Amino acid sequence: MASEFKTCDDIFECQLCGNCCNGFGGTYVTQQDIINISTYINFDLEKFIARYCDKSGTRNVLTLGKDGYCVFFDTISQCTIHPVKPYMCKAWPFIQTIIKHPENWNAMANSCLGMKKNIPHKDLQKIVALEKEKLDKSVI
Ligand code: SF4
Ligand code: SF4
Repeated sequence: MASEFKTCDDIFECQLCGNCCNGFGGTYVTQQDIINISTYINFDLEKFIARYCDKSGTRNVLTLGKDGYCVFFDTISQCTIHPVKPYMCKAWPFIQTIIKHPENWNAMANSCLGMKKNIPHKDLQKIVALEKEKLDKSVI
């Protein structure tokens, strides 16, 4: 019997709850993310890290506001940098680790209201790999 889970829409629909913008150890930003965001908000590239990033080990993550949400989160528009949001935010929840460890999907779904649970691992791996490939082709 053919699987009922074929595309990303079959397993995920963002509910705009904002949970993924709150805490969770921070949102990693690549150098390209930093260039994209600083250009978008018209902020000096050199000063961006000092103003908008913290360190998590050796990597940069976006600073959290006092409310625990990402500094670019806004309750009305949700993400104020949506067109240039970091790779990590664009990818969610179709992230690399799920291809290797599909068993992590259900745990992620505990905090992300848009993720359907109990998807067969083979279907998950196929859909996530496809979405990741599409994203990787589209990002600058
Ligand atoms: S960059 Fe946007 S989507 Fe990503 S955590 Fe911040 S507010 Fe959320
Ligand atoms: S936690 Fe999931 S459902 Fe909520 S805003 Fe983020 S991606 Fe959308």
